[in-house]
Amino acid sequence: MKNVLKKHLLLMLGLVNRLSSTKASTHILIFHDIPPIQINRLEKLIRHLNDRYDIIDPVTFTQQFQNKCFSKKKSLLFSFDDGFYSNYIVAKEILFPLGIRSIFFIPTGFIDCSNREDEINYINNNIYEEESKPDLEIDDMKPMRWEHLSELLDMGNIIGAHTINHTQLSSIKTNSLMIDEITSSGDRIEYMLGSRVDHFAFPFGDINSINANALRIASKRYSYVYSGIRGPNMLDTNNFTIRREPVNVSDDLRYNSLVASGGLSSYYWRDRIRLDEMIRQ
Ligand SMILES: [Zn+2]
Repeated sequence: MKNVLKKHLLLMLGLVNRLSSTKASTHILIFHDIPPIQINRLEKLIRHLNDRYDIIDPVTFTQQFQNKCFSKKKSLLFSFDDGFYSNYIVAKEILFPLGIRSIFFIPTGFIDCSNREDEINYINNNIYEEESKPDLEIDDMKPMRWEHLSELLDMGNIIGAHTINHTQLSSIKTNSLMIDEITSSGDRIEYMLGSRVDHFAFPFGDINSINANALRIASKRYSYVYSGIRGPNMLDTNNFTIRREPVNVSDDLRYNSLVASGGLSSYYWRDRIRLDEMIRQ
């Protein structure tokens, strides 16, 4: 029964999606850690999407804002959050050979962990919420090191900031702490990599993890600010309220293909309105 319902849901969403497919837009996918057991699955998904979509690089994405011109058809951009070493492997072994360049959002405190105990504490306390703690016996979830990030840059990718402590910014009460989390993380990456950091993504990224104050501080420091709220990025999208589509690699290929094409976006229209209101406050 569950499968029948899911099939109907997919068909319905596919139809809605086809009706809106003529709009020029970019959907940005969010990936996180990719456990070794999911690498083949991810590669299959990426090849599937690469055969069907125009996958653009981050520079082309930002040029669409600068030139006030989005490409005629739907395009995709890939983003990877949280700085896991598995992202470096994916970029080097799967994306680079396919000519795909992505954006990597890095919480600097994770990269700066100096021992395994700190890394495990960071993963369990900062990145994952109580109900979704990962099993570190199956996947060791190491952070990238600065040299990996430097190599990603050399491959043509972009490195963006993602706070220091992967903090839910909306819950921070002190303005100085908020400024530190948002701006110092970008400054640290710039200092370590010697390259300008213009992109920032909100940790968690849902509407409850974002507020007007955090958005104002981020928009002063960065040129492009990314949420985790689903939706298309189009000509009228504000560059400080960029939408992204979280993807769970363990979901089936057809479902993720639908997610990539924006099939779930219509459910998030209220969150997009609230986010756009925040930037006007
Ligand atoms: Zn994150």
